Amino acid sequence: MSVHWLEETVQEISKRNLTEITLSTGKTPSGHIHIGILREIIICDALRRIFEKKGITVSFYLFIDDFDAAKRFPSYIDKDYQKNNLGKPFTLIPCPFEDCGCESYAYHFGNELISTFKQFGIKNEIIWTYELYQKKEMHEKIKIALDNTEKIKEILKKYILPTLDDDRKKQFNDMQKTWIPVMIVCEKCNKIQDRTKDGSIHPNRAIKYLKKEQTVMYECPACGYRGETSIYSGKLKLNWRIDWPAKWALFKATCEPAGKDHSVKGGAYDTGIEICQEIYNYEGPIKLRYEWLRLGDQDMGTSKGIVFTPEKYLELADPEIYRMLILRTNPMKHISLRIEETSQYHDYYEKMENIFYEVEEPESKEEYDFYKYMYPLTKVNDTPEIKPIRIPLKLLSFLSQTQNILSLDKLYNKAISSLRIEKAEKIISIEDFKVLLKRTETWINEVKDELTRITDHKIKRNILNKIDIFTIPDTIPKDLINTLSDKQKKGLILFKKFLLEKDNLDADSIQNKIFTIAKEELEVPPRNMFKAFYLLLLGNKSGPRLGPFILMLDKEWLVKRLNQLED
Ligand SMILES: [Zn+2]
Ligand SMILES: [Zn+2]
Repeated sequence: MSVHWLEETVQEISKRNLTEITLSTGKTPSGHIHIGILREIIICDALRRIFEKKGITVSFYLFIDDFDAAKRFPSYIDKDYQKNNLGKPFTLIPCPFEDCGCESYAYHFGNELISTFKQFGIKNEIIWTYELYQKKEMHEKIKIALDNTEKIKEILKKYILPTLDDDRKKQFNDMQKTWIPVMIVCEKCNKIQDRTKDGSIHPNRAIKYLKKEQTVMYECPACGYRGETSIYSGKLKLNWRIDWPAKWALFKATCEPAGKDHSVKGGAYDTGIEICQEIYNYEGPIKLRYEWLRLGDQDMGTSKGIVFTPEKYLELADPEIYRMLILRTNPMKHISLRIEETSQYHDYYEKMENIFYEVEEPESKEEYDFYKYMYPLTKVNDTPEIKPIRIPLKLLSFLSQTQNILSLDKLYNKAISSLRIEKAEKIISIEDFKVLLKRTETWINEVKDELTRITDHKIKRNILNKIDIFTIPDTIPKDLINTLSDKQKKGLILFKKFLLEKDNLDADSIQNKIFTIAKEELEVPPRNMFKAFYLLLLGNKSGPRLGPFILMLDKEWLVKRLNQLED
């Protein structure tokens, strides 16, 4: 057993004895790109760090496949716009949003993803596939494919035929008779494929390759235009099953993860490896298979409705937590990202951090080794020498919910004074604190939203047990205050007196005082007193545990609130 599942791939790569390696990932920018893509990107980013530490030069690429044709659009794209642009490569489609100012559909969604990498600690290089196809090196790969069409067909046949039923076998064989491995962007209508009303897709495939002239002929299925174009025109794109190995060979890809759609038998990865070896004379990458990342219990899809982008994630949670989720889970297991479980994720992270810095005892040697290996790979920046200061999420969530009654300075002071800071440690700045506060607020609002959608009471209760969610109204209406009994009011006023007399209170003494007021001074069940507090503070019947809650509130504000009783 290795220390961490990543080691298996590390060892496989190491067997190749290279001084330079290439890690490769890819994505088609067909709409908002959901956070699932970061699974393969973060796995590769971790591999990058591991090999760089070994002194090996690592190239790490993300291919944005903007030369791919728009087969369909997500539902949030305007219908007329969809009709006009179906079948064009994403890079030749304008940005779908008015006044956005970006260059194309592909750039809009591609850049939305890329812009988050720095915050996730990902260091990679972007290759826009359309640009790549304008280059001489890629034109050479196109020429090799055209010159080897028959050989490619044999390979595809060998892998694909056994996976088809009789009807589709015949279809495949018929199609192969005239098949040429390139498609062309029509010079008239800019489309590279046509989608007919019945939903079937017809690529604008070359119908003839003129080897001597180094041109291809085509008849556009979308507009009927017949054209002939040079194989160096930049209008040609290799069929997907050849495009992938051509890029592997060009960049000498050492390892590329494959989502389960590409891992199937007879799939593009299998045929790709053989084409890479037989046609392009390169052994091909090591396949790292991985399962999908789901949002709760739902699959996400770029062209489907359910989209949760990395950008959205960053608005409400910590990127290091996300890296941890990816790296702690074996890639063959699916991950369910549950925003409402962020506080559990934090608990896990904190435990890992404590064990890494040796301030907590690990349960076993395996656990220690696993965390020691993984922790630096979850960091966005370099691993600090001493354990970083962290404002607990619980405290942040409390503070974020009291923003309407406390000033930023007061919230900040409460946060800082709750941390036991040693001299050597860098204090969290008020600017950083503001960002944390905002992020926590967004997270809590997201959980509140989530709670309105959950119908199962048990699940709801489980979530609420983990996070205190409350709202402190600016004022409590007079008629609500009037529902308090005389004893309850008296108890509250006694508490105010206690509050004014004492300094440096702690949660326990507050909790105890409320008990004594109820039992000894008023002779009522403590429950009645608690209810009175919740009503006056939250306008509600219940709320978070009172002692710590009252302690966190500002004394001045609290006295003012209690004064409302005597108005
Ligand atoms: Zn745009
Ligand atoms: Zn056309």
